[in-house]
Amino acid sequence: MSDLGEHRRPLHCFIPPHISDSISRKGDDQSKKWIADLESEAESYRSARCEVIVADDVPGHDVYSADCGSELPGRLMWSEGDPPAADPLVRKAAESTAQTLALFSRYGRDSLDGKGGKVISTVHYKLDCCNAFWNGRQMVFGDGDGRIFKAFSRSRSVAGHEMTHGVIQHSCQLHYRGESGALNESLSDVFGALVVQRGMSEDAADATWVVGEDLFQPAVSGSGIRSLKAPGTAYDDPVLGVDPQPFHMDDFVVTRSDYGGVHINSGIPNHAFYLMAMMIGGRAWEKAGALWYSTMVSLDDPKASFADFAAASWVTVRGMFGQGSMEELYVKRAWKLVGIDL
Ligand SMILES: [Zn+2]
Repeated sequence: MSDLGEHRRPLHCFIPPHISDSISRKGDDQSKKWIADLESEAESYRSARCEVIVADDVPGHDVYSADCGSELPGRLMWSEGDPPAADPLVRKAAESTAQTLALFSRYGRDSLDGKGGKVISTVHYKLDCCNAFWNGRQMVFGDGDGRIFKAFSRSRSVAGHEMTHGVIQHSCQLHYRGESGALNESLSDVFGALVVQRGMSEDAADATWVVGEDLFQPAVSGSGIRSLKAPGTAYDDPVLGVDPQPFHMDDFVVTRSDYGGVHINSGIPNHAFYLMAMMIGGRAWEKAGALWYSTMVSLDDPKASFADFAAASWVTVRGMFGQGSMEELYVKRAWKLVGIDL
């Protein structure tokens, strides 16, 4: 174990506060209770000055069960190399984690820390828990409440999203606030979407580009939590509210909540990636994903703005595909279409 020093530790939750707030206003008593429970837990993470500890220097992947409690990591259920687990949610967590690690391996990365360190997931976290999160050292998946949300460990994009927070923690360390925080969220969505597309062998043009699309119970009106293709359209539901994501800088949301709208303004770089991937065509995890990954790990400013990331992606694309390449043109055009000129 090694210590990255003390600082206030954000809890990287998959379900953003604007959805939780809407459910706590419009949901039934049971829903309000799990929202309040999760909020008090997130607050205790935020207010505590915690050591952020990187994963063990031992390779592999372990899945634990919290047995509906909150002790982490919990009881060991499966380790890499074991036969598939009997518990379907343990099996799902193991599969989606392996698919995420395989995507990053394609880009030359060895595990989340880049050094082959162990990856830890916990399922069956608390009772009716409707969220998944990266807490600085591991992924945690709630089982859902069976009325609004299904189990979070079922979703490949959730695992991909949460694990990308781990990669960011061990690479460019984007601050989880304002534009750099929204970039942190966006990169997590991008690689979450790419894990799904690679798993389904889908071309960019055939993909839904929705993250968390397999989370809602049938009663919910929505396709998922966020859409990279059409930010602001993922859901419109009497209990969850309306997806508030913008896709252009003209509609950038200035807010003090959600660390300055990290889950809201992420729609802008999300859409830039989608546009670029569509212009390049074919499989988005190949050229477009490799380009975004290289940009992410070479970023040298934890407080990078959208424009900083766009400029870095331009340097990366020229290095990867050459000056005057079509890919360079696509990168420039994609950022311009969301209101960022290079
Ligand atoms: Zn996140």
